[in-house]
Amino acid sequence: MKLVFISVISVFVLWERFNPASCSIGDRSSIYLNCNHRCVKENCTNDGEKFRTKAAQKQDIWCKLLRWSCDDECRYQCMWFTVQNFKRAGEGTPKFHGRWPFIRVMGMQEPASAFSSILNFAANAYMYKKIQRQFPLSKARAMPIVAFWHGFAMVCMNAWVWSTIFHMRDNPFTEFMDYACALSMVMGLFVAAVVRLCYKRTKLTIFILLVPLFYFVTHVRYLYEGVINYDYNMSLNIFFGVAGSLIWVGVTWRQWRLGHGYAWRMLCFTLLSGAALSLELFDFPPRLGAWDAHALWHLSTSPLPLLFYRYVLDDLHYLQSKELEKFAFKLT
Ligand SMILES: [Zn+2]
Repeated sequence: MKLVFISVISVFVLWERFNPASCSIGDRSSIYLNCNHRCVKENCTNDGEKFRTKAAQKQDIWCKLLRWSCDDECRYQCMWFTVQNFKRAGEGTPKFHGRWPFIRVMGMQEPASAFSSILNFAANAYMYKKIQRQFPLSKARAMPIVAFWHGFAMVCMNAWVWSTIFHMRDNPFTEFMDYACALSMVMGLFVAAVVRLCYKRTKLTIFILLVPLFYFVTHVRYLYEGVINYDYNMSLNIFFGVAGSLIWVGVTWRQWRLGHGYAWRMLCFTLLSGAALSLELFDFPPRLGAWDAHALWHLSTSPLPLLFYRYVLDDLHYLQSKELEKFAFKLT
């Protein structure tokens, strides 16, 4: 119940965070508006994309590589100019377009979130190497679930790549990819729980895989076309996230009671993931100009794949031993 409550609150917090149309005190202030108007007029070409010659020389190589336009540069410089003015007047840090101001590092827009996303990717890649070594795809013929876990690891690594790109440079496309791939990971975890629950019922498993896959493809297509809004998308994340967590708790609780000691890892993973998500409930100005609640959430989830895939490996070893037992029984 607590998890559901946290999730529902998160919908509103996340929606507010990712709603670029929303205005905030910072971008409504006359200091910001005047600064931005003057900056664009003095430095940018008419379309706002390119710099007039002298202004272009001020931009560093990282910002050029990450394609910061003249408009973007003006917004960034004026954002910090406004923050300084607010602080001098004894007021708190203002938000801009629904977001806190972040210090740019090597052209990265949200460096702490990007860094934490890389850590999450690294943890997934490190554990995937272990799966590849202990359960290569060749074993999928005898145990199809091996192929599923290979696919699942790739879905997760892909999601963290796009999360890194989005936090490095936010534009409508990278934002869409971050949303779509985050949903693929959440739905993947839900499907994994059902696949494990229905282990050995191959036809049912294929059906379980195809229905969410078809739904995901349709949903993402509509999301791309703008038919579905991000609010609805977030609700879908919460639904699959909570449903997947509940099934995993049920599966692993049963395993634990049957004497499978390794089940505690998945139980811990599910509870810690829920606890980490609650960080999103906090909304405070970024510490050191970079660490806001979202960045800390990404940071706190980065060690969790170590726990998750250790469970997957132990469970695969258990299923393999069962298969071998059956094989030996047939021979005798
Ligand atoms: Zn993120």
